[in-house]
Amino acid sequence: LAHSHYDVIIIGAGPSGAAAAAMLAQANKKVLVLERQQFPRFSIGESLLPQCMMYLEQAGLRDTVEQHAQELGFQFKDGAAFYRGGEHTVFDFREKSSTGPGTTFQVKREKFDQLLIQQAAAYGAEVQHGMQVEQVALQDDGKHCVKLRNLADDAQLELTCAFLLDASGFGRVLPRLLDLEYPSDFPVRQAAFCHVKTELEHPTFDRNKILITVHPTNPEIWYWLIPFADGTASLGVVGSERFFADDDNAKAALWRKVQDEPYLLEVLGDCDVVRDEQIITGYSANVKQLHGKGYALLGNAGEFLDPVFSSGVTIALKSAIMAVPLVLRELNGETVDWQQEFSSPLRKGIDTFRTYVKGWYDCSFQDVIFYPHQQATIKQMICSILAGYAWDLQNPFVRESERRLKVVTELCQES
Ligand code: FAD
Repeated sequence: LAHSHYDVIIIGAGPSGAAAAAMLAQANKKVLVLERQQFPRFSIGESLLPQCMMYLEQAGLRDTVEQHAQELGFQFKDGAAFYRGGEHTVFDFREKSSTGPGTTFQVKREKFDQLLIQQAAAYGAEVQHGMQVEQVALQDDGKHCVKLRNLADDAQLELTCAFLLDASGFGRVLPRLLDLEYPSDFPVRQAAFCHVKTELEHPTFDRNKILITVHPTNPEIWYWLIPFADGTASLGVVGSERFFADDDNAKAALWRKVQDEPYLLEVLGDCDVVRDEQIITGYSANVKQLHGKGYALLGNAGEFLDPVFSSGVTIALKSAIMAVPLVLRELNGETVDWQQEFSSPLRKGIDTFRTYVKGWYDCSFQDVIFYPHQQATIKQMICSILAGYAWDLQNPFVRESERRLKVVTELCQES
């Protein structure tokens, strides 16, 4: 470790931690990222949204992503395709109503996350792997104490910082240590997934789009198929825990459900599993507050909703983009209203996604997505949401998401 005191310590080197580190280093702050795992390391969350390209740009990370996309096998992505028992809908993100990028990538996160954190280090952030944060003592004098363990030799260390950013994802370090946990308003769902090698030559399949298919008889169960550029793809199924009660392992949970979905089986064709099946349960989480004196929570360390619209990395990056300018002002001695300037506007976008996630599971939004005669302007606005533009208040489907979804659902269900 280069110092014993830092301006900012960031817990976790995922996308939110890397973006915050990159921005703080470019502002010449003494910033340390503590990451317990050695990189490259696997993470789920492989399909990005176009909106996040803007956030990567604001963090100074977009160029490196675009320059390395081909070499690292990032798959070009320009939309989302949906399939439900014979109904097929395609959203091309370039046809969205919001201004901003209309394309992005599907990425193996071990490569993507490593690229981002390496670029943050190139900007001057100190990044230490194999360092697990275990305790924090928040002080009023602007010197928070962070206790960590060096996992290589089990040594315990203590550092201080003026500001602490928790970007620990599902590690949820500060929510656990500061008693900030708050139950999610979503039921406990489960995802089973793996990587497969497959040609994906089905005539209706477009490898530039994520494919989301719905279980033929149970619309609460859905599947993702996310192709990568190297001939492999991520395959997953999501549903309430109770639908997996008879499956005693990850393999059974995934493949029993995939066997139920004939179109997905057709698209998959002959495939070999190249990364073993795995299960994650109960990933939806919330917190009582996203900030406190001298600290803030980024990305999944704050709230995580649901994987269905691939919003996780976009929200994670957005939280970093919003927090860092406020951290800089606070380090500069200014008083910042974190509720007004961070929590409320960040939550506005998260709440937009929440409306549509809820609508997906109660089928109202599914009926809108699959409605074959959608008005072009409405489709463009919905396309904006699906492309991640959940903070674009010019879009009525953002501004008044619940009311708009209700109205458009009625129109689609009546006709
Ligand atoms: P993470 O990427 O989780 O990074 C946190 C880091 O903190 C980790 O590297 C971890 O090792 C480290 N850490 C944890 N505890 C400690 C500690 N005590 N000390 C030091 N380091 C620590 N999002 C999308 O955008 N697209 C998708 O297609 C998508 N699909 C998903 C599918 C499923 C089934 C699930 C559950 C999620 C999905 N997500 C998706 C969400 C996405 O995975 C996350 O939102 C995203 O990774 C959050 O980034 P982050 O920076 O907050 O945290």
